[in-house]
Amino acid sequence: MPDRDADLNTLCIHQVCFGFERGFAACVAALERQGVGLTAVWHDKLAAIGATAAARVLADHGVVAVALCPGGLLTARDARRWQAALEHNRRLLDDAATIGARSLVTIAGGLEDGERDLRFARDRALEGLARLVPTARAAGVRLAIEPLHPMTCAFRGVLTTLAQANDWCDLLDAGDTVGIALDSYATWWDPDLPAQIARAGPRLLHLHVADWLPDTRDLRLDRGMPGDGVIDFDSFLALVAATGFTGPLEFEIFSARHWWQQPTDRIAAACAACAGALMHRDLSPVDRRRN
Ligand code: ZN
Repeated sequence: MPDRDADLNTLCIHQVCFGFERGFAACVAALERQGVGLTAVWHDKLAAIGATAAARVLADHGVVAVALCPGGLLTARDARRWQAALEHNRRLLDDAATIGARSLVTIAGGLEDGERDLRFARDRALEGLARLVPTARAAGVRLAIEPLHPMTCAFRGVLTTLAQANDWCDLLDAGDTVGIALDSYATWWDPDLPAQIARAGPRLLHLHVADWLPDTRDLRLDRGMPGDGVIDFDSFLALVAATGFTGPLEFEIFSARHWWQQPTDRIAAACAACAGALMHRDLSPVDRRRN
């Protein structure tokens, strides 16, 4: 296994940075070659080989899974399909435990075909999360709820702001079992972000980074490497650092247009180089005090 630069120990590269097509083992092997020790596992890649085999691949390559992504999608009105979604999430929680991941990153889900009752969908997702808390607690896996960009509300996530995620944490009142995954791509536009990051405080379990490209062509699958878009990462990371957050910087670059077309090693190396620049500049406690 290659030696790891100290900074790379705080870098996490999500498997989805390598695209939907590449398999579980190919993604993990690319991380090992670049000396990156942390990943977040993509559910489809895990499903293709099974959790037990996935755990073995991770161990063989010396890569640790910080999370499994994504769970949730809990807005179905039909009772049978809603129960099936809950069962699917319970299996994901078991899988997360099997691969040693401490969190299941959980999105709410969008509006089903013909559904126009946004309030119902939000209540449904929140109720679903409440139902999952006992399973999560028993599995020793946290539910990291992730607000998504409001432009994806119809098809992906009716949980759309960090304020709402904080409210849901309050309502679920599940202690350490429920927290928040904060994604720069989903939340950068929000004028309430500084106050809501401070409010989240220790609830922040995961820090996802990707940039918003000014000429974006797909609201979900056309994200940029930090620095390539319009997000002020200096300010964003400083807000997170001020909460005392010490988790890894997690790259989650859905990029069908550009990065997914690149070789795996080039993608991993680009994330590592970008993370090094971001972390040296923004996450040092010394720098924070000086500012
Ligand atoms: Zn994310």
